[in-house]
Order: sequence, then C-alpha cells, then structure tokens
Amino acid sequence: MKTRGNMIIKNASELVTCSGSKAKFGKEMRELGIIKDGAVVVEDGIIKAVGTTEEILKKYKEDNYEVIDAKGKAVLPGFVDSHTHFVFGGYRQEEFSWRLNGESYMEIMNKGGGIVNSVRATREASKEELISSAEDRLNSMLSFGVTTVEGKSGYGLDLETELKQLEVMHYLQKTHVMDIITTFMGAHATPGEYKDKKEEFVNVICEEMLPEVAKGNLAEFCDVFCEKGVFSVEESRRILLKARELGMKLKIHADEIVQLGGAELAAELGTISADHLLHASDNGLKEMANKGVVSTLLPTTAFCLKEPFARARYMIDNGSAVALATDFNPGSGFTNSIPLMIALATIYMGMNAEEAVTAITINGAAALDKADSVGSIDVGKKGDIVMLKYPSYKFLPYHTGVNIVEKVIKNGILVHQN
Ligand SMILES: [Zn+2]
Repeated sequence: MKTRGNMIIKNASELVTCSGSKAKFGKEMRELGIIKDGAVVVEDGIIKAVGTTEEILKKYKEDNYEVIDAKGKAVLPGFVDSHTHFVFGGYRQEEFSWRLNGESYMEIMNKGGGIVNSVRATREASKEELISSAEDRLNSMLSFGVTTVEGKSGYGLDLETELKQLEVMHYLQKTHVMDIITTFMGAHATPGEYKDKKEEFVNVICEEMLPEVAKGNLAEFCDVFCEKGVFSVEESRRILLKARELGMKLKIHADEIVQLGGAELAAELGTISADHLLHASDNGLKEMANKGVVSTLLPTTAFCLKEPFARARYMIDNGSAVALATDFNPGSGFTNSIPLMIALATIYMGMNAEEAVTAITINGAAALDKADSVGSIDVGKKGDIVMLKYPSYKFLPYHTGVNIVEKVIKNGILVHQN
C-alpha cells in the first residue's frame, strides 16, 4: 500500500491541468486546460478539487492539509514515461564507442553485440542486484518529474530470467513511490541458444513463457520487437494474439529501422500503443489514428542511434495521438532525460510546447491505458503533480536540456525536491 497524503497546492501562476480522461488526437493536443492562479486539493492521495486559488481557499481550510505555495511557479500533472527497459544487468559502454566510430546498430548486433550482451548480464545478475540498480534508476526518473513508468522484460529471453525481471518490477511497485506498469517482452531478440531456430523460440514464447507470465499475473502488457531480422509481422501477430487470449493488453515496437508494416499490424490488432514509428507509412499511421492507437515516439533513441526522427508534426497534423517516452535502456539510448527528450521533440520533430506537454502527461497515460487515473489534474485522479521552478510550462522547451522540475508530488505526498 502506497502512502497517501492530504495537500493543497495554491497560487500556481499556471495550473496546467491537461484535463481529460482519454488520449488527445491531432489539434486536441494543444489544449492544456490552464487555470491562472490555480489551486489543487488532494485528499487521501486523490485529487478532490481543482480551481482558482480564491475558489479553493473559500471551500477548504488550509489547516487540514500540507500546503505548498506555488507562487510564480507552473504546476503540471506528474509525467508518464510510457516506454522504458529500466531493469537490466550490465552496461554497454564499449558498443557505444563502436557506434561513435560509425558502426550501425544492426552491424553491432550482427557482431554479437546489442541486446544479447544485456541478456548475458541480466541472466547472471541476482534479483537483489537488479532491484538495487533499478531502484537507483527510478529515483533518477522521479527527479525529472516522472511519477508513472512502464518497464519491460526482454533481457532474459528465457523463462526464468523474464520472470525475474517482472518480479523485480512487482517488488519495486510495492516498495517504491512510483507507479510501475509491467510489460512482458520475451520477443525482444532471439537468444543465442535459438540461433537459426526462431520458430522454435516463438513457440517457447507462446506455449511456455506467456502462460507462465499470465498465471502469475506478472504483466499487464505484452510487447514485441517487430522489425526486419528480429520478429516478422506474422511472428509478432502470433505472439500478440496469444497474449491477448491470455488477458494481456498489447504494445508493439513498430517500423523503427525499416518500414515493415508494424503500424498496420498495430491498427489491425487495435494495440494500446505502437512505439518508435520512425519509418511508419502514411497509411499505417492513418489506420492507427482511426483505431485510436497511441503513437509513442522516442526521440532520444533516434538521437543516440543517429536515425531520422519520427514524423511527429506530420502525425499530429493528420490526427494522431502522440505520446513521448524515453525508451530508457542500456543499448540504443541509455538516457532517461526528460529535458533532452523535450528538446529533441520540439526543436527537431516540430512539436510545440503544448503538444510536448500533452505527450508526456495525458497521452503518456493513454499509452498505458491509464488515462482515467493519471496524466491530468482532474478530480478523482491520483494526486501526482509536478511543480516547475518557473512560472510557465513554456520554460520546458525554452530552458533547453535543463531539468527545471522543483517539486514532485505522488499521491498527495511531496516525494522529491531538486
Ligand atoms: Zn523499447
């Protein structure tokens, strides 16, 4: 049980509510529902009232609450990082050096580097070691204002280690202040022991791993790395359909390196989100928007891989719901920096400040099917709130690459101050 608090935040120069209970598509992404001189009341961890400071203080007695004076500061919903791989053993600094010398992600993978390196280290790591490093990473995320994070397995690629990763996340969900949404991603790569026997490995995922994960209720989502040379559209469909049959919700790593039809598959299956989408086709994106699938873009990964950025401007102009996430992982992008992500999304991907805020709040929540409980400052939602050092959300892209979060509140409790 997480601790819950009673709190009043008052005098916010901008209370950026991001109000809503579902994903915002296209033009809706500009609507931030700002209340000038705003205030919020949180009771027992849940938002009880939202309004101007005058309205709120007329109805609620400050004595009964912890009070935060946000004079001269902007207040926003806690950020939602809806795509990460934060539980892993070992590091891949050598490979990063190879990349700096011009080798591509796929070349390094063919050389025996890439995900399999993290797999070896994660298999070797004890549960305690994984908990300790993951806890440290969560604390860093919290300092950037993230109050809900998604985490994927996929560095085990055998039943035992996949379960170990998921159990680590469940342990941290109980002990850490942050909310952790778990995703099973056994189809992240084919492990060495199934080299040239991918079909057998897909069978293992469908017949052994998924049923065990479902039995232990260890993952809310199932995700697949649908990519040329990784898992084909047909293999991805098979795995995702099996996961759905077992009661899991679906996500997909789609069209990251080549245009394979991942976006079309996401639309066909009605996944909650499709992620990366650097090379997604116009038609695939249109079908996704029609089906309500959230487009989760991961700017720091494209940046670290020196890949072309996803077409955020095009997507929003054509009615997509865009979410932004860090894809924090030990290989393709070892960063959980929200400021860097916002800088790339706004300066290089054509998103404006309002769209970037929507993408890390309500649309991030929607990418996790949690838009009814987090991602906005609305009555009935969790008291997950971020206070900036500056009076406007516009400082988020403007103060480029700098963390301007001053206070982080989770379930109505002040849990971090920078
Ligand atoms: Zn990923």
